[in-house]
Amino acid sequence: MDAGLISALASKPSARMAVLEVDEAHLPGALRATRADVVILLNLSRDQLDRTSEVRMLAERWRDSLRNTTAHVVANSDDPLVTWAAEVAPDVTWIAAGGNWHEDAYHCPACDARITFAPAPSKEGWSCTCGLRRPAAEFALIEGDLVSDRTGRLPIRLSIPGRFNLANAAMAAIGAEYLGSSIEGALQAMSEVGEIGGRFSAHRINGRAGSLMLAKNPAGWAELIDLVAPGTSPIVIGINSRLADGHDPSWLWDVPFERLSAHLVVATGERRRDLAVRLLHAGVEHLVLDDPLGALATVGSGPIEFIGNYTAFQDARYAIRRGRPVETATLTPTRRRPGADESASAGEKFPSAATRNGARQRHTQSRLRIVVVHPDLLGTYGDGGNGLVLANRARWRGIPVELIFAPSDVPLPRDADIYCLGGGEDGPQVRAAEQLGHGSLADAAGRGATILAVCAGYQILGTTFPGPDGKVTPGLGLLDVSTNRAEPRAVGDVIVRDRLGRVATGFENHAGRTSRGPGVESLGSVMPGIGNGEGTDGARSGRILGTYLHGPVLARNAWLADELLRSVIGSALAPLDDEAEEILARERIAASTSGRVPIGEARRRLLRQGVRAVVSGK
Ligand code: GLN
Repeated sequence: MDAGLISALASKPSARMAVLEVDEAHLPGALRATRADVVILLNLSRDQLDRTSEVRMLAERWRDSLRNTTAHVVANSDDPLVTWAAEVAPDVTWIAAGGNWHEDAYHCPACDARITFAPAPSKEGWSCTCGLRRPAAEFALIEGDLVSDRTGRLPIRLSIPGRFNLANAAMAAIGAEYLGSSIEGALQAMSEVGEIGGRFSAHRINGRAGSLMLAKNPAGWAELIDLVAPGTSPIVIGINSRLADGHDPSWLWDVPFERLSAHLVVATGERRRDLAVRLLHAGVEHLVLDDPLGALATVGSGPIEFIGNYTAFQDARYAIRRGRPVETATLTPTRRRPGADESASAGEKFPSAATRNGARQRHTQSRLRIVVVHPDLLGTYGDGGNGLVLANRARWRGIPVELIFAPSDVPLPRDADIYCLGGGEDGPQVRAAEQLGHGSLADAAGRGATILAVCAGYQILGTTFPGPDGKVTPGLGLLDVSTNRAEPRAVGDVIVRDRLGRVATGFENHAGRTSRGPGVESLGSVMPGIGNGEGTDGARSGRILGTYLHGPVLARNAWLADELLRSVIGSALAPLDDEAEEILARERIAASTSGRVPIGEARRRLLRQGVRAVVSGK
């Protein structure tokens, strides 16, 4: 990032003014280095979790760096994390600029209590019992207009689409006023912008109209999907996992791809196989093609949209610029599987209070009941997908299922057959342990329910784990394991081999090292990977399974999903066509063993410290 900022500044040393777009993790450093006059804070959400920190840690770093800043801050009061970070700054202009993504701010960054979001179109915004609430804003974005007492109602007319672009323009215009422009003048200048670094640019590919868009994280998708879902044109989605993209595409399970079910989707990019499995579970008809331009030229006949994450987008842009002729091909898309879950999806984690307390929780004994436990606390790493995978794999076999995403503010549903816990940030993890400490999950375990617990969820099931400040925190004691914190954080691809020779692939991202009590079996040995930290990953005891693998683990390892289903159904399961999952697994194993999986500095250090010797010795 620093190199990028320096080369931007060096490209025109005589410029009177510079506008720098800064990654969230680099904001404190950029503020220190530039003594900026104005800082504009749009939003803060999970992004490239393997490379940057978890969101709350970033918000805290923002807050520390803004406390004494001399810059004028323009901040989005509709984003609780931005608000908490910016409220300490000496000079702030608040704008209620909206936002569709709340998944990283269900819990207060100041006290961890649940934040209440007033339903739209209420003007109340959000608030927490500790007093943190949406500040009174001088400006608001209302139906595409910038509104304030001082300026009246200013229409924003842009050439590029999307609610989020209106918000960006409004905030940029307020910032521009501090640098001597008028808000109207800045908005007028922005109305002429036809593309931003190729984003929203229109192209012709083999004579067909196409447009390029960038979406690189779930919050970006939450905005973009409103734009593309209503149509029916084919959509090409490119997903890479290079350094600039983040190496872990588990976030694809936080995107409500179910909303694209009226479209034909082409999965392309280096992680097209991960996307294909996600689309299969979203019930979206799709093709998998390695060449993004070929993909653009192949499907349908009308206009086409390309949406890529960071480097996939850049690759497509440069390929189109070079104008290479592309072959068109006729391919048969993967059909939608019958019975894919239409009532709940991984992208729809938080049912409204009405459905939550009504239909969703109605007890229907004849159905297989699967509960995703507290996704508002343990949903940072896409692990909600495990519940969706179990539900779909049962439904595809004709087994009726009820899938319940159970947030932490309602009692945990009793009498379910399978409970899935996911990974989460340190503070929310402690809160989840407290909430579950009341006995509901222990009761379920006592009844013989199956429990899958990933990362933070896995640690919670043990006897102790470290809280945010490193303090030893009691777990539920359902697994005889305990976790300590160690440096550096274990981040990267993992391959696990169990004692029957079965292989599971996944991605880990944690600071914990977990020791198993005597007689507690692991999931298997790791190579590559850190897992528990002593050459194995995870722990099993009866029907309880803990692991550090994200992915989600059951999406990437169908055999493990079926093993959990079998533990409940108790009979042979009809075979499914698992080609998409098998290709993905082969590809991930090949990438890990050929050294194509990038080894981060943290892991390199671990290996130097001799962890490899232990890993390979097991
Ligand atoms: N907070 C835990 C750790 O860092 C778990 C993180 C996670 O769930 N990914 O070890």
